[in-house]
Amino acid sequence: MKQNIELHTNIQALSIIFANLVENIALLARSLAHSPKFIEETVTMAKSAGQQAMKILCKKEMIISAAKAKVDPEKCSACLLCVCVCSYGAPFINEDGVSQIPPSACMGCGICVSECPLRAITLKHCTDDQILAKIDAMLEPTDSSFPFPGNAG
Ligand code: SF4
Ligand code: SF4
Repeated sequence: MKQNIELHTNIQALSIIFANLVENIALLARSLAHSPKFIEETVTMAKSAGQQAMKILCKKEMIISAAKAKVDPEKCSACLLCVCVCSYGAPFINEDGVSQIPPSACMGCGICVSECPLRAITLKHCTDDQILAKIDAMLEPTDSSFPFPGNAG
Protein backbone atom coordinates (compact mmCIF):
# COMPACT_ATOMS: atom_id res chain seq x y z
CA MET A 1 0.00 0.00 0.00
CA LYS A 2 2.88 2.32 0.62
CA GLN A 3 6.01 2.78 -1.38
CA ASN A 4 9.31 4.52 -0.83
CA ILE A 5 10.37 7.00 -3.43
CA GLU A 6 13.56 8.78 -4.25
CA LEU A 7 12.87 12.50 -4.00
CA HIS A 8 14.88 13.55 -7.03
CA THR A 9 13.28 11.00 -9.33
CA ASN A 10 9.64 11.34 -8.35
CA ILE A 11 7.50 13.99 -9.93
CA GLN A 12 4.83 13.64 -7.30
CA ALA A 13 7.26 14.45 -4.54
CA LEU A 14 8.16 17.61 -6.39
CA SER A 15 4.52 18.48 -6.84
CA ILE A 16 3.95 17.98 -3.10
CA ILE A 17 6.88 20.26 -2.37
CA PHE A 18 5.57 22.84 -4.79
CA ALA A 19 2.09 22.64 -3.26
CA ASN A 20 3.65 23.04 0.19
CA LEU A 21 5.67 26.03 -0.91
CA VAL A 22 2.60 27.64 -2.42
CA GLU A 23 0.74 26.94 0.80
CA ASN A 24 3.52 28.52 2.83
CA ILE A 25 3.72 31.56 0.58
CA ALA A 26 -0.02 31.87 1.08
CA LEU A 27 0.61 31.53 4.81
CA LEU A 28 3.07 34.41 4.63
CA ALA A 29 0.55 36.47 2.71
CA ARG A 30 -2.07 35.56 5.28
CA SER A 31 0.28 36.47 8.12
CA LEU A 32 0.66 39.90 6.58
CA ALA A 33 -3.07 40.22 6.14
CA HIS A 34 -3.98 38.46 9.36
CA SER A 35 -4.26 41.56 11.43
CA PRO A 36 -2.29 44.74 12.12
CA LYS A 37 0.88 43.57 13.82
CA PHE A 38 4.51 44.48 14.36
CA ILE A 39 6.91 43.64 11.55
CA GLU A 40 8.93 41.38 13.90
CA GLU A 41 5.88 39.22 14.47
CA THR A 42 5.19 38.97 10.74
CA VAL A 43 8.82 38.01 10.05
CA THR A 44 8.64 35.34 12.76
CA MET A 45 5.55 33.87 11.12
CA ALA A 46 7.26 33.95 7.72
CA LYS A 47 10.32 32.15 9.15
CA SER A 48 8.04 29.54 10.62
CA ALA A 49 6.43 29.05 7.20
CA GLY A 50 9.89 28.68 5.63
CA GLN A 51 10.87 26.07 8.20
CA GLN A 52 7.75 24.10 7.39
CA ALA A 53 8.80 24.06 3.73
CA MET A 54 12.36 23.04 4.64
CA LYS A 55 11.08 20.08 6.59
CA ILE A 56 9.91 18.64 3.28
CA LEU A 57 12.73 19.93 1.10
CA CYS A 58 15.40 18.33 3.33
CA LYS A 59 13.92 14.84 3.13
CA LYS A 60 15.84 12.35 1.00
CA GLU A 61 12.89 9.99 0.89
CA MET A 62 9.17 10.39 1.34
CA ILE A 63 6.48 7.83 1.93
CA ILE A 64 3.44 8.39 -0.26
CA SER A 65 0.22 6.57 -0.81
CA ALA A 66 0.08 4.12 -3.70
CA ALA A 67 -3.66 4.78 -4.14
CA LYS A 68 -3.87 6.25 -7.64
CA ALA A 69 -6.87 6.79 -9.88
CA LYS A 70 -6.97 4.85 -13.16
CA VAL A 71 -9.36 5.34 -16.06
CA ASP A 72 -10.84 2.47 -18.04
CA PRO A 73 -10.67 3.92 -21.57
CA GLU A 74 -13.36 1.50 -22.76
CA LYS A 75 -15.89 3.12 -20.42
CA CYS A 76 -14.86 6.77 -20.64
CA SER A 77 -17.07 9.11 -22.67
CA ALA A 78 -14.82 12.15 -22.24
CA CYS A 79 -17.53 14.05 -20.36
CA LEU A 80 -14.77 16.10 -18.66
CA LEU A 81 -16.30 15.77 -15.19
CA CYS A 82 -13.14 14.27 -13.70
CA VAL A 83 -11.08 17.01 -15.32
CA CYS A 84 -13.29 19.63 -13.68
CA VAL A 85 -13.48 18.16 -10.18
CA CYS A 86 -9.83 17.26 -9.62
CA SER A 87 -8.22 19.89 -7.40
CA TYR A 88 -4.77 18.85 -8.62
CA GLY A 89 -5.43 19.10 -12.36
CA ALA A 90 -4.39 15.50 -12.86
CA PRO A 91 -6.91 14.15 -15.42
CA PHE A 92 -6.73 15.26 -19.03
CA ILE A 93 -8.24 14.12 -22.30
CA ASN A 94 -5.54 12.34 -24.26
CA GLU A 95 -5.04 12.00 -28.00
CA ASP A 96 -7.37 9.00 -28.05
CA GLY A 97 -10.19 11.23 -26.82
CA VAL A 98 -10.51 9.67 -23.37
CA SER A 99 -9.52 10.75 -19.91
CA GLN A 100 -6.09 9.83 -18.65
CA ILE A 101 -4.69 10.31 -15.15
CA PRO A 102 -0.89 10.34 -14.72
CA PRO A 103 -0.07 8.53 -11.44
CA SER A 104 2.59 11.14 -10.68
CA ALA A 105 -0.05 13.89 -10.62
CA CYS A 106 -2.80 12.00 -8.78
CA MET A 107 -3.01 12.49 -5.00
CA GLY A 108 -5.46 9.64 -4.54
CA CYS A 109 -8.28 11.68 -3.00
CA GLY A 110 -10.91 9.61 -4.84
CA ILE A 111 -13.20 12.51 -5.76
CA CYS A 112 -13.12 11.74 -9.48
CA VAL A 113 -13.96 8.11 -8.74
CA SER A 114 -17.19 9.08 -7.05
CA GLU A 115 -18.05 11.73 -9.63
CA CYS A 116 -17.57 9.72 -12.83
CA PRO A 117 -21.07 8.99 -14.16
CA LEU A 118 -19.90 5.90 -16.05
CA ARG A 119 -17.85 4.47 -13.19
CA ALA A 120 -14.86 4.47 -15.50
CA ILE A 121 -12.37 5.37 -12.76
CA THR A 122 -11.04 3.12 -10.04
CA LEU A 123 -8.68 3.93 -7.21
CA LYS A 124 -5.92 1.36 -6.99
CA HIS A 125 -5.83 -0.46 -3.66
CA CYS A 126 -9.19 1.09 -2.82
CA THR A 127 -11.65 -0.55 -5.19
CA ASP A 128 -15.34 -1.05 -4.43
CA ASP A 129 -14.72 -4.76 -3.78
CA GLN A 130 -11.92 -3.98 -1.35
CA ILE A 131 -14.05 -1.45 0.53
CA LEU A 132 -16.99 -3.88 0.68
CA ALA A 133 -14.67 -6.60 1.96
CA LYS A 134 -13.50 -4.26 4.72
CA ILE A 135 -17.10 -3.44 5.67
CA ASP A 136 -17.99 -7.15 5.71
CA ALA A 137 -15.01 -7.83 7.93
CA MET A 138 -16.04 -5.07 10.32
CA LEU A 139 -19.60 -6.38 10.52
CA GLU A 140 -18.55 -9.92 11.27
CA PRO A 141 -19.49 -10.99 14.80
CA THR A 142 -16.55 -10.70 17.15
CA ASP A 143 -15.10 -13.74 18.83
CA SER A 144 -16.40 -13.51 22.38
CA SER A 145 -13.50 -15.67 23.58
CA PHE A 146 -11.10 -12.91 22.59
CA PRO A 147 -9.69 -11.50 25.82
CA PHE A 148 -11.04 -7.95 25.64
CA PRO A 149 -12.31 -6.54 28.93
CA GLY A 150 -15.75 -6.12 27.36
CA ASN A 151 -15.92 -9.84 26.56
CA ALA A 152 -15.31 -10.90 30.13
CA GLY A 153 -17.97 -13.13 31.62
S1 SF4 B 1 -15.75 11.56 -15.52
FE1 SF4 B 1 -15.56 9.45 -16.27
S2 SF4 B 1 -16.57 9.45 -18.28
FE2 SF4 B 1 -16.16 11.60 -17.72
S3 SF4 B 1 -14.15 12.06 -18.66
FE3 SF4 B 1 -13.75 11.38 -16.57
S4 SF4 B 1 -13.38 9.16 -16.73
FE4 SF4 B 1 -14.37 9.82 -18.64
S1 SF4 C 1 -8.17 10.70 -7.23
FE1 SF4 C 1 -8.26 12.88 -6.67
S2 SF4 C 1 -6.22 13.67 -7.19
FE2 SF4 C 1 -6.44 11.71 -8.27
S3 SF4 C 1 -7.22 12.30 -10.28
FE3 SF4 C 1 -8.99 11.81 -9.00
S4 SF4 C 1 -9.66 13.80 -8.16
FE4 SF4 C 1 -7.56 14.05 -8.95
